[in-house]
Amino acid sequence: MNSIKIPEEFNYISSFLTFRCNLSCPYCLNAFEDDFSRKRNELSGEEWVENLNRIETNVPITFTGGEPLVHQDFIKIIKQLKPSLSIDILTNLYSNTEKYKLTLDTFVSEINPSRINKNSPYASIRVSYHPDQMNPAKLIDDVNLLKNAGFNVGIWAVLYPGPNQLSAINQMQFRCKDNGIDFRLKEFTGKYKDELYGNYSKYPDSIFMEKTKEVLCRTPELLISPNGDIYKCHRDLYSQEFSIGNITDKNFQAEYKFRKCNKYGQCHPCDVKLKTNHNQELGYTTVDIIKS
Ligand code: SF4
Ligand code: SF4
Repeated sequence: MNSIKIPEEFNYISSFLTFRCNLSCPYCLNAFEDDFSRKRNELSGEEWVENLNRIETNVPITFTGGEPLVHQDFIKIIKQLKPSLSIDILTNLYSNTEKYKLTLDTFVSEINPSRINKNSPYASIRVSYHPDQMNPAKLIDDVNLLKNAGFNVGIWAVLYPGPNQLSAINQMQFRCKDNGIDFRLKEFTGKYKDELYGNYSKYPDSIFMEKTKEVLCRTPELLISPNGDIYKCHRDLYSQEFSIGNITDKNFQAEYKFRKCNKYGQCHPCDVKLKTNHNQELGYTTVDIIKS
């Protein structure tokens, strides 16, 4: 198998181990048309390990989903990934549902905390808080369990404008402070009750349009779906269209280049919203687009 050299412009590699999840949040990005079953073919742990270990990069591998801890081989994948790859994890960590087979005791006893080690100002295990689905006291207990075992863990909440969400988030902020847990907020992107949230001024006609047009688009992200297909943006990932390769293809190589796309107008808000770059300057978007 050939190694996969990640271009130096890349800043994010995401392994969506599964789109299945133990929760069903109303704002979930991958509940396609409210289908919470999220059925996709999934690579086995062995396939993930064999192919991720071909990657050569300093960019961390981010394990996400769905809920990545629902993947039956999650522990195996983390333990068998080659040490030169750093790891971070996005999880809801909410282990008291039937779908969550992995206990946190197993997590703690099997994984060395130093293995989950993204070198960044925020936690390597970022736990998402979903107020209408979770018992906040249990979440704090679970996060403390990892924290006391030496894991670098924090809680994040999306500023979703639904009823009770903001007051619940506010209370969680205080609980985290009392427990010495790093707590961060994440902007909500998309529509809620016909109101658009997020700043899309760089490409204002890129989202929620009925008509689409052809553009050239370039991304510095490697998005690997549960079956190994690789996509150039979140729109393509969630709609399973226009895969640019598969991680199990022995000849696959990541390339930083402009590609044709005829779906401009229906971009995913996450890819085109305005963000700050590493110098905290506003004006950056994940993808670069050239319109004719
Ligand atoms: S926890 Fe995340 S993946 Fe699961 S339903 Fe909620 S938003 Fe979606
Ligand atoms: S133009 Fe939009 S839909 Fe097309 S690849 Fe870029 S981000 Fe994706």
